[in-house]
Amino acid sequence: MNPPVLRIAIPSPLRRSFDYLAPASPPPPGVRVQVQFGRRQLIGVVLGLGTESELPAARLRPIEAVLDTEPLLPPSICALLNWAGAYYHHPIGEVYAAALPVALRQGQPAAARGVRRYRLTESGTAVDPDALKRAPRQAALLARLRQAEGAGCGAAELSELGNWQGAMRRLMALGWVAAEESAALPAAVAAPEPPLALTPAQQQALAAVGFDGFAGILLDGVTGSGKTEVYLQLIARTVAEGRQALVLVPEIGLTPQLLERFRRRFAVPIAVLHSGLADGERLSAWLAARDGEAPIVIGTRSAVFAPLPQLGLIIVDEEHDPSFKQQDGFRYSARDVAVMRARQAQAPIVLGSATPSLESLANAAQGRYTRVVLPERAGAASHPAMRLFDMRQTPIEGGISESLYRAMQQHLERDGQVLLFLNRRGYAPVLLCHDCGWVAQCSRCDAPLTYYAGARRIRCHHCGAERPPPQQCGSCGSVDLRPVGQGTERVEEALRARFPALGIERIDRDATRRKGAMESKLARVHSGAARILVGTQMLAKGHHFPDVTLVGILDADQGLFSADFRAGERMAQLILQVAGRAGRAEKPGEVIIQTHHPDHPLLRLLVERGYGAFATEALTERQLAQLPPYAHLALLRAEAPALAAPQAFLEEARLLAEQCGEPGVALLGPVPAPMERRAGRYRAQLLLQSENRAALHRLLERWLPLLEASKAGRKVRWSLDVDPMEMF
Ligand code: ADP
Ligand code: ZN
Ligand code: ZN
Repeated sequence: MNPPVLRIAIPSPLRRSFDYLAPASPPPPGVRVQVQFGRRQLIGVVLGLGTESELPAARLRPIEAVLDTEPLLPPSICALLNWAGAYYHHPIGEVYAAALPVALRQGQPAAARGVRRYRLTESGTAVDPDALKRAPRQAALLARLRQAEGAGCGAAELSELGNWQGAMRRLMALGWVAAEESAALPAAVAAPEPPLALTPAQQQALAAVGFDGFAGILLDGVTGSGKTEVYLQLIARTVAEGRQALVLVPEIGLTPQLLERFRRRFAVPIAVLHSGLADGERLSAWLAARDGEAPIVIGTRSAVFAPLPQLGLIIVDEEHDPSFKQQDGFRYSARDVAVMRARQAQAPIVLGSATPSLESLANAAQGRYTRVVLPERAGAASHPAMRLFDMRQTPIEGGISESLYRAMQQHLERDGQVLLFLNRRGYAPVLLCHDCGWVAQCSRCDAPLTYYAGARRIRCHHCGAERPPPQQCGSCGSVDLRPVGQGTERVEEALRARFPALGIERIDRDATRRKGAMESKLARVHSGAARILVGTQMLAKGHHFPDVTLVGILDADQGLFSADFRAGERMAQLILQVAGRAGRAEKPGEVIIQTHHPDHPLLRLLVERGYGAFATEALTERQLAQLPPYAHLALLRAEAPALAAPQAFLEEARLLAEQCGEPGVALLGPVPAPMERRAGRYRAQLLLQSENRAALHRLLERWLPLLEASKAGRKVRWSLDVDPMEMF
C-alpha cells in the first residue's frame, strides 16, 4: 500500500511539483505548508493529493507545518495558475509564488493588518496653502491630503511625494493632520458622482458586453474617446449585481488621477494592487479582493492572479502595453492570462486601447472578440492632424529641425504648450573621438556608453555601469571627444538656448528619479509655468495635457529599421499615445513627426490614414513573413560568461528538438543575441516558430525535460519565453 502523498508547489527552478507524506487529515489544495526542502525550510502551496509517488515511501518526508486553516487560494485561482504554469512551461512553484503577495510568500498569516492613514483635521482643511509657501513639502502634503478628501492617504500614496515623514510630523504637531490605524481600504465616498450620459458609440460599447458567460470585447477608441467612462459604467453594473470587477492597467498608467476618478464614482471600497505598496498594504488589499470586501480591484500585471470570488468583469486598459508582459522569471502576459481567466470564470473581458495590439486586432478579425470602435473624442474634439517633416538636408539643432522650431514658435505665440518626444535619455547615446572614430564602450556589454553632460558621467543603459567620462580617447589619446546624437538632456539644453525665457520641463527616468520630482514637474505643466515639455515614453501614458497644442516626435526612424519585428508596431503606438496626451475640444492639436524616411510606406500610412490602416497593412506583412499573430513563437535564451557555452547548449537543444519530431515547428538558430554580450555574459537564442500552437506546445512539453537533463545546460543560464514580446 502506498501512503497518500501531498503534491506541493515549491518555489524552485525545477519544472515539477514535490511529494510529501500526507498527514492523517490532509490539507486541501490552495493551503500553504512549510516543508523541509533540501537543507532549507520553504513555503509551498498544496496542489492536491496523490497515491502514487516516484519516491519510495521511505524517502517521503512529512510536512513541517500547515499554515492555513482554509485554502488561501480558491480552486478557480489554482486552476488558473495550473493552466499558466503549463502554458508558459514554467516551474509551478514559481508560478504560485508569483501569484502571492510577498507577506504570504514568506509565510505570514493571511490576516489584514491595520494601515496608518492620514487625514486633514478641520483646522487643517481651513489652512490657506499660501501660508506654507516657505515649507514646500508641508504644502505638497496638505495639497495631496486635500485631494484625497475623507479617504485620507496611506504611506504608499504619500511616498510619491518623496521624503514626507518629517513634514508630516510637523503638520501633526500643528494639529492639521490626524493619523489613525484603519482598515486597509480607504473608505468609499459617501456621495459618488453620477454617470455621464453616454454617446451612441459608448452605448453600443456597453451593449456589446453581455453579462452571460465569456465574451471578449476589443474597445478600440482614441485617447479621450470615452473608454474609461464605458469601463466605469460596466463596473457599476457589475457591482450592482453583487459581483466584482478586476481592472488591469499598465504600471505607469496607475496614476493617482486615475484612482481618484474611480474613487469619486463608486460608493464601494476599491482595492489597489501594485508593486509600489508596502507589504502589509498589498496583503490587505489582496485579502479584501479575495474575501469579496472590495467589489472593485485595480492593479498592475500581477493583479491578474488576485482571487476575486465573485468575478463578473475584467477590464484591461491599454491592452497593447508591453508592460503587461513580464520580462524575466515567470514570463507571462497578464493580458493573455486575463482572457483565459475570463473564460474560466465565464465573465466578459474588455480590452481597451487607442492603438490595439496586432494580436487583438487579428483576434477580432477572426471573430474571437467583438470589436467596438469609439470614433470621436467625447466632447467632439477633432483628431490631431499629423504631418511628416523631412529631416534630410535641413539644419538641425539639438535634434530639432528649423521647420519644427518655427512650428513651435507659432504654437507658443498662441499660448499653446509644446510637447517633444524622444525615446532616448541622457545627453548623447555615443561619445566619439573626432580624430580616430573610437567610441566609449561599456566594458561588460556590446554597447556604447551614454553620455550625461549634467552629471559628467558615462553610463551603460544595459548593465548600469557608470564612470566619469574619459579625458582622452582610449585609442589615440586625442582630447577631442564629442557627444554624437541626441538624448533628452541635450534636447533640453538646446531648448533652453533657443527659448531662454520659457519654462521647460524634462520628463524621463533620470529627471524624475528623485521622489516627488514627477509630481512637481506635472504641477508646473498644469499650472502653465512650463511651456515646453520634453520627455521619453514616460510621457506616453496616463497623463493628459489639455493645453498642449503641438506634439513633436523627434525621431520616428528608431522604430523603422530595428531587428525586432514589433518595433514598427511599437513606434506607431507610441506616436499615437504621445499624440493622445495633447489638446482638448477648443484646442485641437497638431502632431509633427521628424523622419529621414518620409516615404516609408508604413509611416505614410499611419500619418495619412491612421492607426487602423497602418495596422491592417502591418498585419498583412506579418502574415507574409509568418510572424505573430499568424505564427506562434517560443524563444529559448541562454547566457554564460564563456562565449562558447550558450551556443553549445543551444546546438544541443536544437538537436533534441529535432528528435522530438514535430515537423510543423521550425527551429531558427541558434544565433547570438542582437546584443551578444551584456553585463559580462554572452547571450544566444534559439527561436521556435509554428503556425500550429498545439504542435509548438506538444514539442515544448517533450523538449523541456530533455533540456533540464542536459549537461551543457548546466554551464549556462537558460530560460524559455512563450509568446516573447522582445526578441533579444
Ligand atoms: P479615454 O478613456 O478613452 O481616454 P475618457 O473616458 O477619459 O476617455 O473620456 C475623456 C473625457 O471625455 C473625460 O473628461 C470624460 O469625462 C469625458 N467624457 C467621456 N464620456 C463622456 C460623455 N458621454 N459625455 C460627456 N463627456 C464625456
Ligand atoms: Zn553595460
Ligand atoms: Zn581617438
